[in-house]
Amino acid sequence: MTQKLTIAIDGPAGAGKSTVAQIVARRLGYIYLDTGAMYRAVTWKAISCGLTSNAAMEIIAIAETIDLRLAYIDGKTRVFVDDTEVTGDIRSPEVTGMVSAVAQIAGVREAMTRLLRELARDGGVVLDGRDIGTYVLPDADIKIFLTASIEERAKRRWLELKEKGYAVDLEQLKDDIRCRDDMDCKRELAPLVRAKDAVLVDTTELSIEGAVQTILKLCEEKTRRV
Ligand code: C5P
Repeated sequence: MTQKLTIAIDGPAGAGKSTVAQIVARRLGYIYLDTGAMYRAVTWKAISCGLTSNAAMEIIAIAETIDLRLAYIDGKTRVFVDDTEVTGDIRSPEVTGMVSAVAQIAGVREAMTRLLRELARDGGVVLDGRDIGTYVLPDADIKIFLTASIEERAKRRWLELKEKGYAVDLEQLKDDIRCRDDMDCKRELAPLVRAKDAVLVDTTELSIEGAVQTILKLCEEKTRRV
């Protein structure tokens, strides 16, 4: 495959986007951009500055000046803010609880969108997020809407958090995911919706490898057509 495609994978929390996107990127030799991690990093910095999501102006200033680095090391994305590694911290329940409110702030979205468009400019990238195919890169070559049932998504997040040492109640987690999805879907700016030209991939009963193969096949078809 010589043409370097731009692949957008959007969907709700816990659908498997980052796992699938990372594998697709690795197999194609592309760069993987975890756009949720960027919103999480801004939220982490806001919290460490003692801010709540009401402090829009201060959070926009953080988004516009943040020294944010995503590094792909040993098959995993690691996130650094001002040279401090925050890979684990940005997944804490505290950050997760505030990130969707931060992601509603127009200035924050503008700063992240600008950065993402710049990073994706030359193609050869896989981005996962909420608004990539609809707003950030409406001309992406491949658009996927990856989803799964709320039960399955909550179960996956529960296992993931358990492995990281966070003890959370499954029912509570389900409510939190529902609430976050709701905020992401109903926000005014770049809400989470399936782009008209996005291919729906439901991972409720589909394995990670199955989802990866679906996307790789679409990439192959696309490059054959060009
Ligand atoms: O993907 P992840 O769960 O890490 O995303 C965290 C949050 O960041 C989402 O719930 C959403 O509020 C926000 N986000 C966004 N746009 C993106 C990616 C993430 O608004 N492209």
